[in-house]
Amino acid sequence: MSKVLIIEDEVTIADLEKDYLELSGFEVEIENNGTVGLARALAEEFDMFILDLMLPGIDGFEICRQIREAKNTPVLMVSAKKDDIDKIRGLGLGADDYITKPFSPSELVARVKAHLARYERLIGSNMVENDIVEIRGLKIDKTARRVWVNGEERQFTTKEFDLLAFLAQNPNHVFTKEELFSRIWDLESVGDIATVTVHIKKIREKIEFNTAKPQYIETIWGVGYRFKM
Ligand code: CA
Repeated sequence: MSKVLIIEDEVTIADLEKDYLELSGFEVEIENNGTVGLARALAEEFDMFILDLMLPGIDGFEICRQIREAKNTPVLMVSAKKDDIDKIRGLGLGADDYITKPFSPSELVARVKAHLARYERLIGSNMVENDIVEIRGLKIDKTARRVWVNGEERQFTTKEFDLLAFLAQNPNHVFTKEELFSRIWDLESVGDIATVTVHIKKIREKIEFNTAKPQYIETIWGVGYRFKM
C-alpha cells in the first residue's frame, strides 16, 4: 500500500485530504508542524508528500528543498495563493506538482495517483536495469557499485570493486594475476601483478568470514584466482 505524508497545519484540510486518499486505498499520515514533518519526511519511507506552504516551524519551500536533496519521492505542493505557484517554480525547488486551495478532493486524489504511478514506473525500470550478482550472502550491485555481505554494506575502492565484480561475473574461471592486472588496471597504471595480490587481500578482508579459508575468491596456487560459484 502506498504511504503518503501530508504536512499541513489546517486540520480540516489535512483531514479532508486524508479521508479522500484513504478511500482510494492509500495509507496516510499527517503532521501539522513543518519541523516535525520535515524530520519524518527525511527519516521515514513515504511514497509521496503533500506539502502546504505556510507552516509553523519550517515552511514548505524549505521542506521541499531539503526533501529533494535527499530523495526522489514525488512532492505535491499545496498553496492558498496562485502567486505562490510562480514563486515555487521560480525557486526551482523540484516540486513535482502544485495545487491551489480550494481544490476538489477528487482532483487531489487523481494527481496523487498519477504521480505515484509515474514514480513506481521509474523505480521499477531502475530495478530492471540494475545488474545484481548474488552468491551465498554476497550481493554485488554493478549498476550502483555497492556491495553487501549478509545484508551489511561494505565500502570498496574503485579498483577493489572492479576486481571483485569482474571475478564474480566470471565464476569458476581461473584468471592469472597478469590477466587480472591487464583487465582491471589501464596500461598507464603504475603497478604490477603484486597490486592484484594486495587488492585480493583487501577484498577478502571485507567479504570473507575467515580470510584463511576463503569461500568466495579461491587462490589457485601457481596460477591465480577464481571466484567459486
Ligand atoms: Ca498553512
